[in-house]
Amino acid sequence: MKNEINIFAPATIANVSCGFDVLGLCLDTVGDTMTIRKTNEKGVRITKLTGQDLPMETEKNVAGVAAMAMLEALPEVDFGIEIDIHKKIKAGSGIGSSAASSAGTVVAINKLLGEPFTPLQLIQFAMQGEKLASGTAHADNVAPAIMGGFTLVRSYDPLDVISIHTPSDLVATVIHPQIEVKTEDSRAVLKGQVSLKKAIKQWGNVGGLISGLYTEDYDLISRSLHDEIVEPTRAILIPGFDQVKNASIEAGALGSGISGSGPSIFALSRGMETAKKVAVAMEDVYKNIGVDYDIHVSELNPIGVKTI
Ligand code: ADP
Repeated sequence: MKNEINIFAPATIANVSCGFDVLGLCLDTVGDTMTIRKTNEKGVRITKLTGQDLPMETEKNVAGVAAMAMLEALPEVDFGIEIDIHKKIKAGSGIGSSAASSAGTVVAINKLLGEPFTPLQLIQFAMQGEKLASGTAHADNVAPAIMGGFTLVRSYDPLDVISIHTPSDLVATVIHPQIEVKTEDSRAVLKGQVSLKKAIKQWGNVGGLISGLYTEDYDLISRSLHDEIVEPTRAILIPGFDQVKNASIEAGALGSGISGSGPSIFALSRGMETAKKVAVAMEDVYKNIGVDYDIHVSELNPIGVKTI
């Protein structure tokens, strides 16, 4: 059995408009790389961290916390783990920076150990990393990072995560305005209650989106990519949100919304050509209003964390 593994830890888009806290999807070309080693010296150590200024102490880094949660679940541990992290995803971007590190770590350790854990167990370990990053052990980023494609967290208690059919023609465009939106601020603007009228529209759209994904009905996917509940209140934290969203839809996107808790804005398109046109339209908005940005165009990744 190998003692070292190199992996690609993908970025993810959570919520996907109508699926607040339950839906997520996995990106293919946006993500970090990591090396995970099994060592004779016991304990978990972050041995390298490049690309972002993040804590290297095991208990302050989501990768360390997820690894410790995993080792605690093993009956006997006579080895240690070293983790090298090369961040390409900026922390706090809204495309699952912490989830990539947590998910990458647990999938890699599982492979080094001969895959004793199920994907659902891996999600539970990675959720401990998410708890460190944002205060709540949410699964909407780590689930797609571990399982690939679209995922649905049907229930948290007990945890029930469903892998959803993901049409291969779907391509994501993500623009990240270089402003900081703290996850706690984007949570704080949320209202504690939802009107029945809005809830009815929302669950209609969630059902429509899932059905559209399975039947590869792009019109239905497009009609369903709406968020009646969270986007209207969160959008005010993101400069030019309405303009970026409208421009992407005019350029041919099936739909557009806030990625995770923002500030990134995503769009889904049918085919790479349209997704690239959408990228240009989104960029034009930020060029005009003078906001710096990063832009990504990526197919969806059907398998999640990959060995490289
Ligand atoms: P995003 O908006 O991209 O999903 P996150 O919610 O993932 O961002 O949170 C990033 C937070 O997690 C930051 O406060 C960061 O300091 C913390 N963190 C700890 N370890 C890591 C790591 N390995 N990668 C990314 N963020 C980490």
